[in-house]
Amino acid sequence: MTWQQKIDDALTLRRSADALRRRYVVTQGAGRWLLAEGRQYLNFSSNDYLGLSHHPQIVCAWQQGAERFGVGSGGSGHVSGYSIAHQALEDELAQWLGYSRALLFISGFAANQAVITALMGKDDRIVADRLSHASLLEAASLSPAVLRRFTHNDPQHLARLLSAPCPGQQLVVTEGVFSMDGDSAPLAEIHAEAQHQNAWLLVDDAHGIGVSGEEGRGSCFRQQVKPELLVVTFGKGFGVSGAAILCSDSVADYLLQFARHLIYSTSMPPAQAQALRAALAVIRSREGDERREKLAMLIQRFRAGLDIADFTLANSDSAIQPLIVGDNHKALQLAEVLRAQGCWVTAIRPPTVPVGTARLRLTLTQAHECQDIDRLLEVLHGAGQ
Ligand SMILES: *Cc1c(COP(=O)(O)O)cnc(C)c1O
Repeated sequence: MTWQQKIDDALTLRRSADALRRRYVVTQGAGRWLLAEGRQYLNFSSNDYLGLSHHPQIVCAWQQGAERFGVGSGGSGHVSGYSIAHQALEDELAQWLGYSRALLFISGFAANQAVITALMGKDDRIVADRLSHASLLEAASLSPAVLRRFTHNDPQHLARLLSAPCPGQQLVVTEGVFSMDGDSAPLAEIHAEAQHQNAWLLVDDAHGIGVSGEEGRGSCFRQQVKPELLVVTFGKGFGVSGAAILCSDSVADYLLQFARHLIYSTSMPPAQAQALRAALAVIRSREGDERREKLAMLIQRFRAGLDIADFTLANSDSAIQPLIVGDNHKALQLAEVLRAQGCWVTAIRPPTVPVGTARLRLTLTQAHECQDIDRLLEVLHGAGQ
């Protein structure tokens, strides 16, 4: 087989399974509206849950940060790329979430890769929820540690896997709010099972942070659980991008020595850190409460209005409201119908989700208005008939 055949075969296979992924060029992709291909759509595909991506104070903080620090950080944080802006953001995050330390990463993907690669060796075992994000499962399967997956949100199955003898350390991995299902993990039970076996817990709260809990502290705070390792990302509720790991002093010191994604990579621009500080201030303020309340109201409106004769209501009180269709082709078709009616939605197919559970992943955001939700429901019910 030649290189060309190898590439062509892989593409043909994807295409024939209706699983080919494509990108759309958008003129504007975050916020209430999505502009693409010369048309305006109501946007039900954005993770900008609190509508912060265009927030004037946050935009201004980034602009002023760029004027003060320049547009780039100039290096890895271990060389010259760790500024007073990075340090201030780390301190504010740690204080907000009740940890000794926070370490910044350029993305959630990098943070998950870094923490798992730096901590896990060949005698160790990772026990991860089966539906964990690709960045976690990919890091876990590339790591020399043994990977076991427990049934989604099933602490009993987790307990059984943890009780098997393990020569090294065990790390339990789950998410606060699951990215493709919108449901929450039973964190207290999961943490109790982990502690029972002296395992540590890593929670990736990409979809909970900023959006739920008092002052937007997320899923762990809401469930009164303090995992040993907490990953938060800034591309969703914060409306920006980047990530942080929250941990103890000694783990932070360890990661600074052994996390290659920190050491061998340019740190985020200081101006971005300034924008993130402004986003954090909004999230913690009264305005943040108001934004979360509006989002909760819109979620409630959607769930109350969905006709369950046509669609199955997901077990989700988050901004992620998936409609599970099953078949790839059907999911693509439904997404097309919605788009033709002016609602931008994405069909999510395997391998992102388990085979036979292709779905529309609808996301609601604070930037929507009641009439947008009503329009979505109207179009969905028209398509479902
Ligand atoms: C989006 C996401 C990530 C990746 O974060 P980025 O900052 O976008 O790289 C990691 N984990 C979960 C659960 C996510 O949903």
